[in-house]
Amino acid sequence: MDRLWIGPAGPGEVWQENELSGDAYELRTAAGPPAAVTVAPLGSHPARCACASAYLSGASSPSGTVWCLIAAAAAVRVNGEALPAGARLLDDRDEILLGARRLVLSTERVARMERYVAGDRAIACPRCGGQLETGDPIVRCPRCRMAHHHEMVPGAVRAGDPDAGESCWLHDVTCAACKEQSTDLGRDRRWTPDEVAP
Ligand SMILES: [Zn+2]
Ligand SMILES: [Zn+2]
Repeated sequence: MDRLWIGPAGPGEVWQENELSGDAYELRTAAGPPAAVTVAPLGSHPARCACASAYLSGASSPSGTVWCLIAAAAAVRVNGEALPAGARLLDDRDEILLGARRLVLSTERVARMERYVAGDRAIACPRCGGQLETGDPIVRCPRCRMAHHHEMVPGAVRAGDPDAGESCWLHDVTCAACKEQSTDLGRDRRWTPDEVAP
């Protein structure tokens, strides 16, 4: 489940979690201090309300929802940059600045086993360098999409479990290609904004 985290309004406050189960949201700020932020499904708020600051719109893709931020206000930034075209596609862990408040999108996906289907080009496993063949059990990194060999070993669902080293995917705690995705299998919510660099 994709999530939009709202940063703390001040000292002693914590990140608030919003699950993005719909496909369009309004992100609103109210005048502060402290500036309040709300995330609401599109249409649940009076149209053209002056406090609407940005819109988040999702489109389905084979690897999950692709989110686009639409904002006319100059005070809206993504990773510190203004939106000259008024819109920007968001990546996992992008930071949105809405006035004085930080929000972070999380599109972390859970890694699962599948069977490899070869395409036109030979693809090598980023862990061992060996070629992947149709029918091989693999785990495709949900973050960077690179496929890794995966030998199923009973009881091995994360790096460090007995015999986990037999699987290229479970050979280390992170993906061999992007080094960011956790290799834990079937576990959601590994990432929270506390890991955002200050
Ligand atoms: Zn391999
Ligand atoms: Zn990866």
